Amino acid sequence: MEKRLRLAPSPTGLLHIGTARTALFNWLYARKTNGKFLIRIEDTDIERSKSEYTTNILNGLDWLGLNWDEEPIKQSKRVSIHKNYIKRLLETGAAYRCFATESEIHDLREKQKVSGLPPKHDNRHRNLTSKEIKKFISQGKSSVIRFKIDEETVIKWEDQIRGEIKWQGKDLGGDLVLSRRALGDEIGDPLYNLAVVVDDNFMNITHVVRGEDHISNTAKQILLYKALDFKLPIFSHTPLILNNEGKKLSKRDSVTSIDEFKEMGYLPEALTNYMAFLGWSIKSPESEILSLTEISKVFNLSDVNKAGAKFNWEKLNWINSQYIKKMELTKLTKFIKNYWNEMGWESPSTEWDLKLTSLIQDSMILLKDAIDQSKPFFILSQMKKEGDEFLKNKKEAKESLKFILIYLKEGNISKVNKDNAREIINKITVSHSIKKGILMKSLRVAFFGCLSGPDLIQSWELFSENKIDIPLIERCFI
Ligand code: GLU
Repeated sequence: MEKRLRLAPSPTGLLHIGTARTALFNWLYARKTNGKFLIRIEDTDIERSKSEYTTNILNGLDWLGLNWDEEPIKQSKRVSIHKNYIKRLLETGAAYRCFATESEIHDLREKQKVSGLPPKHDNRHRNLTSKEIKKFISQGKSSVIRFKIDEETVIKWEDQIRGEIKWQGKDLGGDLVLSRRALGDEIGDPLYNLAVVVDDNFMNITHVVRGEDHISNTAKQILLYKALDFKLPIFSHTPLILNNEGKKLSKRDSVTSIDEFKEMGYLPEALTNYMAFLGWSIKSPESEILSLTEISKVFNLSDVNKAGAKFNWEKLNWINSQYIKKMELTKLTKFIKNYWNEMGWESPSTEWDLKLTSLIQDSMILLKDAIDQSKPFFILSQMKKEGDEFLKNKKEAKESLKFILIYLKEGNISKVNKDNAREIINKITVSHSIKKGILMKSLRVAFFGCLSGPDLIQSWELFSENKIDIPLIERCFI
């Protein structure tokens, strides 16, 4: 039978790393089994749901390469269907109207708090007679619909990640509210647990893979599946993503939305590669750099860990740098040129662009690193303290730079490239008995304002083509 999985995000915020990782595990399993990966937008919370969040979530999934099958379903379009199922539960006696007011429920909670008890509804209206119901309605009281949960019942399922999970009916907080408050004999807007069961059944979902924070919902939902005579899907609850302190990763941990990762210069391939290993692992991997297709071939829900997965920035950065290293030069150049355009930096030629990209490619961790690393090739870099001291303290430093200037001017050399740069350096060191090391360091200081940077000879060629090598050397004498 075809396996059908889904992501059911609520569009109440930007696509979050936790939701993206859940999407990834669903996608991987669907692709591994040649099944379907579907999307249902759970937009029934009218106040908090926004269409721009739906767009953001879909765009984010698309950017990550998590393509979906079939048109996404909008839960809000199915409200009347959900209500019909609630009616059915009312008719069979599995659900009932509860007229307890907000303040009555508040009082109950307060009492429970004082006695140190967890919040739990006392099912006070479970056995109202039809006469009592009529009376409440005629008094203009509003009601919610509650689904009866037998205290004695034990709910058990075989979770693909966690093995057998058992839940006691008495620990589910009392009879479950299926719909919001409504007046008279109306049924208010259906709530999450009811809607999710009806929709998963409608979409023929065979595997529900979602965060471990939904485990108690699953217990409630299994009771609804049974009451509605629906076929149960197979459940899997993924571990949470944790921060350094071992707490659930949240907005306070600087970045959590996929947009922010994109903005910071992470590549989608690197992020999905990293996210797959957030909670999942393969025995003796040959490499940790794996494409989505490669991972989908070996992925199994039973290999997902139960324990929370710590978010490790260093590992993500390392993976990102590996993807940048192996990226095709023209593709990387395109990314980098976007940054140059944003900065208003103009380059002398397309060939120069490729050469500069190749020069910095191996030292980039994030795409955004290209800004700092290419800046000295466009703008005369500031002399740093280290460079300044070198020029002051090393006697031959300025001297050697002066010899370079003279050599370039007298020889009428307007273009330095990889080939003649070495020759220039050799000739000056020999004829003026200057140590090669000093000359090279002085040149580096002139170009970068400090003693570090990329390959000097290749850099010189690029500075020269952009006509800033001479001004950079000259500034050392001001
Ligand atoms: N809308 C729910 C959420 O975003 C869906 C949970 C589920 O997968 O059932 O948490």
